[in-house]
Amino acid sequence: MHAVGIDIGGTKIAGALVDEQGRIHNELKVSSPIDDADQMIDTIASLVAELTAGQVVAGVGIAAAGFMSKDREIMYHSPNISAWRNEPLKKRLETKLGQPVMLENDANAAGWAEFRFGAGAKSTSMIMITIGTGLGGAIISDGVLLKGGFGIGGELGHVTLIPGGQSCGCGQKGCVEAYCAGTALLKSARALARSSDSSGSRLKQLAEVTGELTGEQVYQAILEDDLGANSLIADLAHHLGTAIGTIYVPILDPELVVIGGGVSVLGERLLAPIRSAFSDSMPAKGYRPELEIVGATFLNQAGLIGAADLARQSFAGS
Ligand SMILES: [Zn+2]
Repeated sequence: MHAVGIDIGGTKIAGALVDEQGRIHNELKVSSPIDDADQMIDTIASLVAELTAGQVVAGVGIAAAGFMSKDREIMYHSPNISAWRNEPLKKRLETKLGQPVMLENDANAAGWAEFRFGAGAKSTSMIMITIGTGLGGAIISDGVLLKGGFGIGGELGHVTLIPGGQSCGCGQKGCVEAYCAGTALLKSARALARSSDSSGSRLKQLAEVTGELTGEQVYQAILEDDLGANSLIADLAHHLGTAIGTIYVPILDPELVVIGGGVSVLGERLLAPIRSAFSDSMPAKGYRPELEIVGATFLNQAGLIGAADLARQSFAGS
């Protein structure tokens, strides 16, 4: 039976009908009314009504960034949706929709999609690192999505890689996210464009067109094989590969690391240096099974595919 997957973002809400094989049959996008909790409920309800058009579905899965209760009843705090502070989201939506609703963290939902239908479909233990504006994580160990004692585990972006290092959005310093997320990449690129370092000359040139360097311009410079932009990717990959080798793998021992999120469109330009830094940092190198580091199968649709599948498993038992 189909299920509905909804991915709530800070600007858009994407929704789709998803089948048992993780295939999307219909996808719609609407604006996200981030500062009005009632309007959020109404918007999600109309999206679900339009997607299902009277068809019976197994349930509705919602993927959203934020800290939520372990039972997934309450969204404690969503960074993108200012209206969601201690919001009893599951109950409100179920009342409005008249059908079962499953809420999950967006990075967890994306990881679940890769585990079930994508890059991790042949693994039993994997981690997914989503490199977008922030750095999200999902941990699947022996086939189970790890949520933790309070439901907020798997925050791979907020482990300290460099004590006393760069400030992170979480209030701490030196987190992996502060070195490896898209925001960190853009910040370093802007600093390089402003510096007198000659390797930043192409970035400086691009910045003069728009006044301030954009993410798209950094991407353009990377595709042009610009020396400065490449050095930034090398730094990001070095930090992430080191975090995988010295933190994630020793603790979690995954068979597979899947790299997704917007920055992962760089493909091998990003993956090859991550593998290299990982290989240089892993303990007992040469005397342990080698794990793989691969790109994600799904990009923007991972969250809603995973959310729909989690809802189906929870409510239809298949
Ligand atoms: Zn942090």
